[in-house]
Amino acid sequence: MKETISKQDWLTAQRCLGMAWYGLRTGYEAPSEAELFRMLQGQEIGSLARQLYPGGTLVSKANGRSAVEVTQDLLAGTATPALFEATAEVGPFVAKADILTRDGVGWHVIEVKSSFSDTKSISELVDDLAYTVMIFRRAAVQISKASLALLSRTYRFGDSTERLFDIVDRTDEVNERAQEFDEQADDVARILFDQTQPVPKLVSACRDCPTYEGECLASGLSHTVLEIPSLHHTKLKRLSQEGVVNISELPTDLKLNPTQQRAVGAMLSGSAIVEPALSAALQKIEWPCHYLDFETVATVLPLYPTLGCHRQVVTQFSIHHRGSIDAEPSHSEYLASDPKENCERELTEALIEKLGKRGSIIVYTKFEEKRIEALRDAFPDLADYLQSIVARLLDLEKIIEGNVYHPEFRGSFSIKKVLPALVPELSYAELSVRDGDTAIARFARMAKGEISGDGAETTRRQLLKYCEMDTYAMLKLHETLLRLAARQPDAET
Ligand code: SF4
Repeated sequence: MKETISKQDWLTAQRCLGMAWYGLRTGYEAPSEAELFRMLQGQEIGSLARQLYPGGTLVSKANGRSAVEVTQDLLAGTATPALFEATAEVGPFVAKADILTRDGVGWHVIEVKSSFSDTKSISELVDDLAYTVMIFRRAAVQISKASLALLSRTYRFGDSTERLFDIVDRTDEVNERAQEFDEQADDVARILFDQTQPVPKLVSACRDCPTYEGECLASGLSHTVLEIPSLHHTKLKRLSQEGVVNISELPTDLKLNPTQQRAVGAMLSGSAIVEPALSAALQKIEWPCHYLDFETVATVLPLYPTLGCHRQVVTQFSIHHRGSIDAEPSHSEYLASDPKENCERELTEALIEKLGKRGSIIVYTKFEEKRIEALRDAFPDLADYLQSIVARLLDLEKIIEGNVYHPEFRGSFSIKKVLPALVPELSYAELSVRDGDTAIARFARMAKGEISGDGAETTRRQLLKYCEMDTYAMLKLHETLLRLAARQPDAET
């Protein structure tokens, strides 16, 4: 078991004490390939931010002295104008400050984040900074100012590092939050190191808690209230207050929308529910059908000229075409011929050619629509074609959400949940790339030259296979939905 409390433990404890209690004992899940890629980008941004403070010292263990001791020496001296990764340890608590710079007789603490300076998640970033401030103050370091180094929306590929960051002063909110944290800190530490697990209580954090099903609230239950799709937080709060987790104990007066009622009905009965209206929804689809899926790349620092941070670039498409439900499908695909170049124009022209002018274009979620609209804005000379493509789009997820629920959807209509429930013979398990985030990470590594030669050839094949699977999955889902609709009592024959 871990004997110290880090910022990650603290912030987890703010979501649920039990989750942090388990985290100290079992550790957190190892990061996935995509998470690792995001962490590396965060480190790159961190080291760029240090360039704004020339003459600063990167703290590390040296000559048998710990990072905490090296930090104390540097803080006590006058030679260093800034410290990077300064470390403080007080009791069980440990904190690292991305940047500390001198501010009169005190210190200005700056945390570097890969979010835009107008992010809606500022309160989470304030909490992150407040923890650091609380621990450094407990370690008798005078913190006079607290800021976030966030990304500027106006930065463009190739601009200077100065243009990359907006330094946003949040001292007042951080001081307030750090004071609240300080008042809680000793109680939180006591609870986390106690042998007894904190009493669990249903919270939204349970949705992504690794212990929910195995050791905690959902243990031994077939279905729980967290599987009700899009359950509003006020309803979740009520259920939490009433101690309801098992779906079979759902209060009868809880107001649910039709999708939620269908989900609850399917969970209670243990079998799928299909609405008679499915048939009419499917009749809106016009043959020939084109099942379309995009992959994109988006990195913190832009990969291509003229683009800004986090800009999403479409890099790949797969289309399965079918003239009728009985016809053999054919397949078209595109993957950026040179990942080091922005190939969106070439992709867009290929897309227009392959989709032709007739038939429905079936997608899963609104993602493709948003990307096509962005392409329309980027290439005004192709706007009419692209607008006609938007008019032919049909979202299969919406049709499923409005008409079908299988207990194994587990509250989600994502294709990764719906496919195994409705088309169990099809699986992503054998693929090397199994999700969009991994596809982004692999493509970005090719674009940066980190994967080349034979590795790049293998990666290209893996990316093509993954995107092809997404559109084949839609084609098979469509077949299944047609079969389900035909079994409905008042389905047209
Ligand atoms: S399942 Fe919920 S209550 Fe239990 S530890 Fe996880 S977040 Fe906390």
